[in-house]
Amino acid sequence: MRYAVVGDPVAHSASPSLFLALGRELGLPLEYRAEQVTAAELPGFLERVRAGAYQGLSVTLPHKETVLHLADTASVVARAVGAANTLVQREGRLEADNTDGVGLLRALASQGVNVEGARVLVLGAGGAARAALQATRDAGARALYVFNRTPERAERLAAAFGAVAVPLAELPRLLQDVDVLVQASAAGLSRPTETPLPEGCVLHPRLSVLDMVYQPLQTQLLRDARASGARAVDGLWMLVHQALAQCQLWTGIEAAPGVAIALHAALQQEAA
Ligand code: NAP
Repeated sequence: MRYAVVGDPVAHSASPSLFLALGRELGLPLEYRAEQVTAAELPGFLERVRAGAYQGLSVTLPHKETVLHLADTASVVARAVGAANTLVQREGRLEADNTDGVGLLRALASQGVNVEGARVLVLGAGGAARAALQATRDAGARALYVFNRTPERAERLAAAFGAVAVPLAELPRLLQDVDVLVQASAAGLSRPTETPLPEGCVLHPRLSVLDMVYQPLQTQLLRDARASGARAVDGLWMLVHQALAQCQLWTGIEAAPGVAIALHAALQQEAA
């Protein structure tokens, strides 16, 4: 059972320790490595995967969009998102999929947050935000909003997913009207005091906030959420659930609910 995460850079990835811990939890002889591969090297690397070097890959930046085109087939979800975070190698063919959306929904559900009928605001306009919009839309969100540092990108994304692009001036008022806030931008990544919300934005106590950033684990946004009485869900929950969904695509094995809790605890301890 040989798997790897492919990206450039990839040394920072939490995936190797996550999947090795998952292998131990499931009692599987799972090998998992980090493969640093440049864009120019990617087609040749995938040929090696087709030839059997790996049974599956996790895919991270900057290859999530490219692999969708280099794979032999792509799932409906990966095509809708326009990016893949998973490749499954079956008999020399590569199938592209995307588990970020299901990981997000399961992370929220595991912490008691249901997006069906909810008003959801997504921050960011990259691949993670696309996956969040696709998943929350398909899970029955009542209304979808998107805010991004570069407004033109939010407008394009909103048009693609039937969402409303929120201008900066309207963000503080809109924040009072939403039920779920999904932080899918890179704001706060390795910057413990940076928040994606501009000055003047206040979180209300009935809000649920998931921050996809998990380095650091306790981001400024999550600290602000807790301080205002809102529910705070850290990005490790999503990382764990998208990984469990990947493992299921690769092996067909569905992990019991306790496995996610054990993996989250192990990674939380590592991050401390
Ligand atoms: P991406 O495609 O590079 O998109 C980055 C987005 O973040 C863009 O919308 C960008 O805005 C915005 N941004 C970057 N720096 C910012 C800042 N300082 N302030 C405000 N906005 C900023 O990346 P991605 O793949 O969508 O990933 C986004 C984040 O989610 C990353 O931190 C990634 O690690 C995390 N993620 C976590 C999980 C998980 O399982 N927890 C899964 C997927 C992704 P502009 O358009 O203005 O440049």
